Amino acid sequence: MTIRLGLVGVGKIAHDQHIPAIKASPAYELVCTASRQGSVEGVPAYTSIEAMLDGEQVDAVALCQPPHVRYDAAKLAIEAGKHVFLEKPPGTTQAEVVALADLARERGVTLFASWHSRYGAAMDAARDWLAATTVHGIQAVWKEDVRVWHPGQEWLWEQGALGVFDPGINALSVLTALLPRPFFLREAVLEYPANRHAPIAADLAYTDATGLPIGATFDFRQPGPHNWDVHAQTEAGTMLLAKGGNELWVDGELKTTEPEAEYRGLYARFAALIGDGGAVDADTVPLAHVADAFMKGRRVTVEDFHY
Ligand code: NAP
Repeated sequence: MTIRLGLVGVGKIAHDQHIPAIKASPAYELVCTASRQGSVEGVPAYTSIEAMLDGEQVDAVALCQPPHVRYDAAKLAIEAGKHVFLEKPPGTTQAEVVALADLARERGVTLFASWHSRYGAAMDAARDWLAATTVHGIQAVWKEDVRVWHPGQEWLWEQGALGVFDPGINALSVLTALLPRPFFLREAVLEYPANRHAPIAADLAYTDATGLPIGATFDFRQPGPHNWDVHAQTEAGTMLLAKGGNELWVDGELKTTEPEAEYRGLYARFAALIGDGGAVDADTVPLAHVADAFMKGRRVTVEDFHY
């Protein structure tokens, strides 16, 4: 059975990743979009999710708007009996995502809180490689130019938005998937531009039950090429998981050659969950780490940020 899909919030990530992945998958038919301004050529376009759900027969929706409007849209779709794919981060609070997961289970539909970096081509190889050795320390470094990756996105900086944790949560989704034990925050420093409500950089120190040092550094002020890397020091050598989970290097040697296919992996997973009778996959641990950093982090003020 082809899944009739409605795409909501047709912006940067919808164009960059969702639309190509949906078109490449025989499991889906993109039957409509809901976006105030965005649309996809040749596909019926609605300007709100309410109008889309009223006007079109869809089995599932993919929600690609900024996270602060996602809960209301997801609730509406679940209550209409639709399967729901949430872009990351799945919401602005952990509690609202848990509530959505409970609602989806009650209604027998799929809720998929997607973490695209977990579908990086080298993630399984890196997890297996780390599991076979003793890890002495591990650090995620996520640095990018916000003007390139989030051009003009004022919503990133509003009160309650994630700022640099919007990409940083990808690093946390990777670390939580790579490491065998839960970890927790010891110390954090968050840098806030004087004119903004969300951090532009963060430095985070975690540990786990064994005392493993785990670090994460996020920065939106990186000029030139970005870094989405995890470095590990281990008994068997140094590991670099580069390109957001897509390349594994050991002692400077590239170990993987699989092409990047994160969103194809996400859509395959979504179809499998739907095929499993409306199963729910809604891990909120990366979001909990963001909340902990905002709760526990020391806040310092840095110079204004303007696009
Ligand atoms: P975006 O282009 O700014 O937003 C996507 C679309 O959502 C917009 O084009 C807009 O479409 C709609 N939208 C924006 N503000 C809205 C609001 N207040 N209410 C309702 N709809 C609104 O952002 P994006 O980069 O695609 O990011 C969207 C989500 O994808 C975020 O959660 C982000 O973390 C995630 N993501 C982004 C990237 C990336 O590289 N940018 C990568 C992976 C995941 P209309 O104006 O047509 O309604």
